[in-house]
Amino acid sequence: MYILKKDGNFIFRSTSTNSKGFITPLATDAHLHFIALGEKLNSIDLEFKNLSEIKEAILLKLKEKPSKLIMRGWAEPDAEPTKKFLDEINSEIPIMLVRRCGHIAVINSKTFEELNFEGFEKYINFDTGRIVESSIHLFYEKFGVYTDIQKNFEKVENYMLDLGYGFVHSDDLHGIKPENLPYENTRIKVFEKVAIENYDDLVFKFNNGYFNNFNSVKMFLDGSFGGRTAYLKEKYSDADTKGELLWSEENLEKVLRFCEKNKFHLAMHAIGDGALDVILNVFEKVKPILTHRVIHAALIQDYQLDIIQKHKLILDMQPTFIKSDIHILNKRLGDREKYSYRFKEISDRKIPYFISSDAPIERVCWWEYPEILAGHGISYKESLMKLFYAPEEIDSFSRESSIEEYHLQYKNNPFENYEYPEKIFIKGNEKIFQSK
Ligand SMILES: [Zn+2]
Repeated sequence: MYILKKDGNFIFRSTSTNSKGFITPLATDAHLHFIALGEKLNSIDLEFKNLSEIKEAILLKLKEKPSKLIMRGWAEPDAEPTKKFLDEINSEIPIMLVRRCGHIAVINSKTFEELNFEGFEKYINFDTGRIVESSIHLFYEKFGVYTDIQKNFEKVENYMLDLGYGFVHSDDLHGIKPENLPYENTRIKVFEKVAIENYDDLVFKFNNGYFNNFNSVKMFLDGSFGGRTAYLKEKYSDADTKGELLWSEENLEKVLRFCEKNKFHLAMHAIGDGALDVILNVFEKVKPILTHRVIHAALIQDYQLDIIQKHKLILDMQPTFIKSDIHILNKRLGDREKYSYRFKEISDRKIPYFISSDAPIERVCWWEYPEILAGHGISYKESLMKLFYAPEEIDSFSRESSIEEYHLQYKNNPFENYEYPEKIFIKGNEKIFQSK
């Protein structure tokens, strides 16, 4: 068989079975929200369901005997659930049904009993059980963001192994504590980041053991194109705003220096070119020694590519966004659309980059990325090396050392004729690869 090495070559090795297959490591997803994806896989979406279908869905989930229940997706005209509707189904555990938009929810009487809504009265309708905006977060603070972290983990681990993933760089540590993450002795290798709100939050988390097992920091400099919250250098083409900048240069500089000093990897969410400017100004000043990364980097000006090239900065980009943003990019950005998702220029300039999903916002589908990126001038070999080996640079886990037990098998050389793998091998068990 031919085994893919880190240097990008398939090396022949004769084996007892003498298979002619091509062997690669399992794929890496360099940016996703692992537990949140598990939550999504475990939950029943209420979208387009009427009240009796919603009732059915709740009863089904109650059979799992949860200590609380959060479900999402209802909306008018299909359904308008109320407190009374929920109470008739269950009044033993707190239940919250979040509307499709995420800004409105309905809760049952048990939740009213256990939660203190003092100071939030204007967000609450005690008769209908409707709560809006920040009062929804009171529920999450008291009962947790996820229905059941352990069950989410079991679900998502199996789901991703079945799809040929062996490694993930996850981003779940907001609103939960590190000891709640079930990441010991996992079959899929999870590299987690600690999300921070500001510099003081970083220092607090550092002093409270958040970094005992993790050495990556995550922060959000801006939002998204969809919500016009990605921070642009110039105003949006379809609104009188540049978006929202969540960090000042001054605070980012303090965080970057802290990460350099403590040997932490800093991952910075930045979608707009304005947010990227903030990062690059700080990099020009601090001149970091370690490797850090920008997650998304969806809009990059030419001069910004020049500065990125000067520094050890990885761009962590999502091929599926090209397609899902296609309907809004021109409206939001006008001519600037040509500076979005610049995979080809980034590759030509040899700027290091990773490819990832950002699930559950997008699907996990690593096998589709080489085809998507081939349409942008990236070779299959380059995409596959990004998926199989590139993230080693940050997580330092040798893919070659685990390839005997964990690997994908292709019939032909996938660098030449791109194809999906035939089989997945995990600890001696083989499975047929099936895309989803
Ligand atoms: Zn994300």
